[in-house]
Amino acid sequence: MPTPTQQAWRSTLGAVAAILLVAGVAGAATGYFWMFVALAALGILVWHYWRLHRILDRLKRRRRVQTPAAGGIWSELDRLLSRASDETLARKKRLVAMLHAYRAAAAALPDAIVVVERNSQRIVWFNQAAHGLLGLDYPRDIHAPIGPKLAHLSVPNWLASGRHAEMLMDEASPADPSIRLSLRLIPYSEELWLLVARDVTKLMRLEQMRRDFVANVSHELRTPLTVLHGYLDMLDPEESPELAPILDEMRRQSGRMNQLVEDLLTLSRLDAHERSDDEVVSMRSMLPTLRGEAEALSQGRHVIEMHDDATVDLWGSTKELHSAFSNLVSNAVRYTPAGGRIAIRFQPDGEGAALRVADSGYGIPAQHLPRITERFYRVSTSRSRESGGTGLGLAIAKHVLGLHGAYLAIDSEVGVGSTFSCIFPRERCRQRPVALPFS
Ligand code: ADP
Repeated sequence: MPTPTQQAWRSTLGAVAAILLVAGVAGAATGYFWMFVALAALGILVWHYWRLHRILDRLKRRRRVQTPAAGGIWSELDRLLSRASDETLARKKRLVAMLHAYRAAAAALPDAIVVVERNSQRIVWFNQAAHGLLGLDYPRDIHAPIGPKLAHLSVPNWLASGRHAEMLMDEASPADPSIRLSLRLIPYSEELWLLVARDVTKLMRLEQMRRDFVANVSHELRTPLTVLHGYLDMLDPEESPELAPILDEMRRQSGRMNQLVEDLLTLSRLDAHERSDDEVVSMRSMLPTLRGEAEALSQGRHVIEMHDDATVDLWGSTKELHSAFSNLVSNAVRYTPAGGRIAIRFQPDGEGAALRVADSGYGIPAQHLPRITERFYRVSTSRSRESGGTGLGLAIAKHVLGLHGAYLAIDSEVGVGSTFSCIFPRERCRQRPVALPFS
């Protein structure tokens, strides 16, 4: 069964052959064979050019091609063009319908969505929620620069960091300051960004309640614990030797509870951003203090080294940084069996400085590393408890470092040891004053 295109070719070539044949016969009969054949060929050529001209003209005017009745190759070309244009039209309709559906869905989202033109930082489109959450008005704010619209949020600076912009949490809404927003920037094409603002008021309230609850409970536990601890200290085991092991255990447990409460209070303070003022943190005195603590905890069971190779001090809170470093040092001692080595090193790192605490201890299996700094996360609960751990040390260290623009890097291999590195950027380093002789 020939295809319509094959049929069209057959019909056109048949017609050409028939015309030439008739012209040839007529020419032969009248004695002007070549003249008749040439005239017929010219006629065919003119007709073909005319059809080509008609098609080009129609395409130029973008006129819809009518589906022609079956015929030669030109009708077939018309038919194919008409089919292509029908398909394009149907595709266009489908795309428009999809676009409408997407826009309707985006418009109905409870999150504010703003499409921003990257170079000019002008607003291209926004949904209805952007009115309530970001105070944008339609059509006034279409094509308006986004920076001034959201000037009192940290948005303009944040937009400048573009692709690397981290999510902004807990910003007050420009439309209603009691609404708390989280903002996220998604570069979804070379020219356009999507700014998504979500109402996190409830989440923030719950988070605040959780923080307040932990802080209050810890605070309330502190006084009775101090009283218990005081009385326990007053009891003399020598007066009743049979009670000595019980008193010992009670002291140990109340000491643990005390430590737990103190760690929880430290975390609450850090959560609430109640930070002591920044100052120059003298590493010349911090490092020997850390070594002294390690030695006191180790009781001679480990070899403890200290190296001070950086010529800088840090800028931050001495108390908080001491608490972070001291947690790492205490972990190194507690999770390294007797006879192991512990090295505390302060050294240059890139443009900044790093404090590293390395041990030759048990090490941490790789699957635990991503969660190790979570509150109360432990690799081995019994080992942590036996050694007097609260499960909060690394959470405190990470939090403190975060507040100092630094971060915690952990390298560990089971059976070989671990290295915890506190990496500080250049902005947190201060050139150390030259030590005066005999000072
Ligand atoms: P803990 O009070 O239990 O030590 P941390 O938050 O300080 O709590 O540490 C969390 C867990 O990480 C610990 O329980 C321990 O399993 C693991 N860990 C921390 N430091 C080390 C280390 N230097 N070597 C091996 N394991 C460690």
